[in-house]
Amino acid sequence: MHPDLVTSDLALLQRSRLPLAIERAQSKLARVEADTSAAKLVKASQRAKSVAQRVVWLQRAASAWARPIEAVSACRQGCSHCCHIPVTISHVEARLLAHASGRVPQEPTRSVRINDDVSAQRLVDMERQLQGAPLSPCPFLRAGQCSVYDARPIACRTLVNLDDDDLLCRHAGDSTAKVPYADARHLKMFALMAQAGSSYADIREFFPGSARAPAPIPLTKPTTATIG
Ligand code: SF4
Repeated sequence: MHPDLVTSDLALLQRSRLPLAIERAQSKLARVEADTSAAKLVKASQRAKSVAQRVVWLQRAASAWARPIEAVSACRQGCSHCCHIPVTISHVEARLLAHASGRVPQEPTRSVRINDDVSAQRLVDMERQLQGAPLSPCPFLRAGQCSVYDARPIACRTLVNLDDDDLLCRHAGDSTAKVPYADARHLKMFALMAQAGSSYADIREFFPGSARAPAPIPLTKPTTATIG
């Protein structure tokens, strides 16, 4: 958040922006031409020999789907507001992130099981169930950049703000505003059903801990601080 902008000013600005942002989003979507490679990549996913390969194809499809929308969106390189809000991923995506990062995924304490019939309502319910934790940086965010960009989950690839700037994405404390995101539910539902039986949880549940590199261990004699 801009240092001069206090929380109440931000909330006020966001409330007055929303109607215009929705209008902008609708007019942009009406002009966007779909990338036909997204459908081809979804088809290719059906021929994959393993669930992990299928998810990789679907991640590529998600990027292809988002590409023309990103071109008219508020999303810019270096902006990382959405890396602080809930990011739900499957266990299969956690394994792909583990492979890309060298980190070992943990068993989530709060998760839901994906079944083979994910409706739009079920998707909303699942995500609602997993929310509620205070906002915090994604464990893969390093100096404002995604450190696992090529392996980032479908949730990250499809979250596109259709406004003209990041005003509605900004947050102070734990408050977030409504954002006119592009609707990626169909892709997410398809991707989840392709990995039925897997668990679904926030990315921070699979990879707890800070994104920052651990502080160097001091060489001086320890004081009263303990490492727990
Ligand atoms: S995986 Fe990357 S893009 Fe996704 S929330 Fe984390 S840092 Fe951001």
